[in-house]
Amino acid sequence: MQSRRDFLQKLTASAAALSFTSYAAAAAPSVLRESQPYDGPVLRVAIMGLGGYGSRVAEAMQSSKMAKLVGVISGTPSKIKDWQAKYNIPEKNCYNYDNFDQIKNNADIDAVYVITPNALHRDQVIRVAKAGKHAITEKPMGLNAKECQDMIDACKKANVKLLVGYRLHFEPFTLEVVRMRKDGELGKVNFFQGLSGFKIGDPSQWRLNKQLAGGGSMMDIGIYAINGSRYMLGEDPIWVTAQETKTDPQKFKEGVDETITFQLGFPSGAVASCLSSYNINFLDRFFLSGDKGFAELSPATGYGPLKGRTNKGEINQPVVTHQTVQMDEMAAIILQNKKPVIPVDGEEGMKDLKIIDAIYESIKTGKQIALKL
Ligand code: NAD
Repeated sequence: MQSRRDFLQKLTASAAALSFTSYAAAAAPSVLRESQPYDGPVLRVAIMGLGGYGSRVAEAMQSSKMAKLVGVISGTPSKIKDWQAKYNIPEKNCYNYDNFDQIKNNADIDAVYVITPNALHRDQVIRVAKAGKHAITEKPMGLNAKECQDMIDACKKANVKLLVGYRLHFEPFTLEVVRMRKDGELGKVNFFQGLSGFKIGDPSQWRLNKQLAGGGSMMDIGIYAINGSRYMLGEDPIWVTAQETKTDPQKFKEGVDETITFQLGFPSGAVASCLSSYNINFLDRFFLSGDKGFAELSPATGYGPLKGRTNKGEINQPVVTHQTVQMDEMAAIILQNKKPVIPVDGEEGMKDLKIIDAIYESIKTGKQIALKL
């Protein structure tokens, strides 16, 4: 059986061989294009949750220029020690889940990146906001739209920024397709297909625990197809229909979806046809069709390199480490108010959860659900 790690590692094969120079030359914020050492503002980040993805972000951030890992929040003292040694993190910047509210007294940390199981994001982001620090949270932003609204409200009240870790919003192949669509090279776009799936391994992992994951494949990877449909088509859907199939109720218990197909309708008349699965391998493909042409990304959401083609031929873009670019760009958003091409703020994250809420409702009722994003 293929694990999520195997799946992502295959897609990632050459990410380690990334050339930062090629990225810096082509897709970087202007500040990073300069060849001389960077001495502008730096976002000082603490990572909360030192698991698989937290480790990947930490490693990638070593190559970021505008973001620096300076702190950790973890429930496992041995992990804190390892990270301190590896990343030169001072004792005073180390916290656990009980005492991290004290971060409010730490002037050396600007932002906290929450990379814990989905069900923890809401409360942890709210605590980060109350401590007066900017919050970056992993996807899905929360378990539902209501949780997202709570997070947005808390960050507004505390006057801190709230960003969601949508790394693909800064990824060059993705941005090239968005540019083509915006520039009219595909004509009027009227169809998007998003396929997101892999066979998940270990049945005891938190991703298959409704309490911690909030659902199943939809919360984890179906959200990529939802999010992709919006940035690829450049509009937000007004209705959704969805159907669920479950072949293994032992592994995918009540409230943990195995496979969901769903359809979205957009104001322009465009439609999207999507699939989210924890039990079908090799599904990582976006396809966008217009009157004058098409664009395909496959893989579309793995850690890279992504690959793409259009009716005119192969898409050529620099291969980057997604999280290195993401952290530089997020630092520019937080420190310099930079406006990204595709938003990554709390409202953007909440839109995807509104759609997920409606997908689950459609499955339950068998009806088309109207959306107001
Ligand atoms: P993981 O299981 O590898 O790590 C989760 C971490 O949270 C672990 O260090 C664990 O010890 C810690 N944790 C704290 N409280 C916990 C609790 N009550 N129960 C279980 N673990 C607890 O998971 P991951 O793959 O790092 O995923 C973390 C988050 O990152 C998820 O929200 C996931 O959707 C997101 N993620 C995003 C991407 C992306 O490409 N943007 C990729 C992978 C994961």
